[in-house]
Amino acid sequence: MFLKDRPPPRYVEALPRLAHRLPAGHPAAAAIPHQLHRSASGFGGETWVDDILLRTPFPKPPTVIRDLYFGAPYPNQIDTLILTASYCLVLEIKNYSGILHFSDGGRRMEREHHDTGERQGFDSPIVQLLAAMDDMRVLLNKIGCPLPVHGAVVLPHARTLVRGDTGGVPVLYSRALRGFISGLPARNVIAEEQVVALGHSILRHLAADRVIDFQKAFKYTAADVLPGVRCSSCGRPAVRVSERLHRCARCSTEFSDGYKRALDDWFDFVKPEISVKECQAFLGMKDRYAARYVLQKHGFIADGSTNKRVYRKNKEPLADTSGSFRCNPLDLVRVSLVRA
Ligand SMILES: [Zn+2]
Repeated sequence: MFLKDRPPPRYVEALPRLAHRLPAGHPAAAAIPHQLHRSASGFGGETWVDDILLRTPFPKPPTVIRDLYFGAPYPNQIDTLILTASYCLVLEIKNYSGILHFSDGGRRMEREHHDTGERQGFDSPIVQLLAAMDDMRVLLNKIGCPLPVHGAVVLPHARTLVRGDTGGVPVLYSRALRGFISGLPARNVIAEEQVVALGHSILRHLAADRVIDFQKAFKYTAADVLPGVRCSSCGRPAVRVSERLHRCARCSTEFSDGYKRALDDWFDFVKPEISVKECQAFLGMKDRYAARYVLQKHGFIADGSTNKRVYRKNKEPLADTSGSFRCNPLDLVRVSLVRA
């Protein structure tokens, strides 16, 4: 059923590390807890809906792709995409609390806090959904797939209330998804056997991963990033105690991956490449040879001639995209799937 994993959002994994790399009192550090809470809450809502989908009876098991990113020039994201032989369904999942007031045909939204009554403007999830549905139509057209595209905004929990004009766009509680899905057209537009291949074709056309510019998002500069190996528990500076081990000067935690984690922080929060000289300074190493040894040992990729050589992270391999979608809806051409 699920063709692609839903990894925890980049922010959930990365923001605690960024917090350890910024000086106390830096304005960017103050913004991190709020964003972390938002990301974790959004992720919780999305996995909740995954569970509901697993318990939803479909006439035939659908193919579900989670957490899809459309790359440049028009970056966009789809929380959940459901593919069947009859339709393509885009779900925009929003784990809001409070009362949502829609206006202007769903193009505007304000959220009212349950307790205080305070109202705050948000990007309307309906606008996001309609843009994602448009992008999906363009992509299906490019692939040559005639499936109609439907969409809904899904609120994981019924304690979120909805008021006003959504412009006819369904805004559903997750427990109502089953009824909504059973009301969608059931006539096959493509062959059942083509649905998984279509999922693979969609994955192949989209960006593999979301790239976040942390400096831009949190308004800090490379010079603000604290150097050195930091503790994996409390984030304080750690000292090297043996060939392999570092120990935290504050909480005494010992860990063996200190250099690797520090370099991951560099690539995520400073810049995507590092010279041997920069590595030596950032890790506080005694000489260039030790720095080069660490870069090579961890498999970073050397780029450029000796003088200007920098190291980069190895790109993650793309997801398995075996099988191709070939659509001839009249003949319902069968596609052979080759498992890797
Ligand atoms: Zn510590």
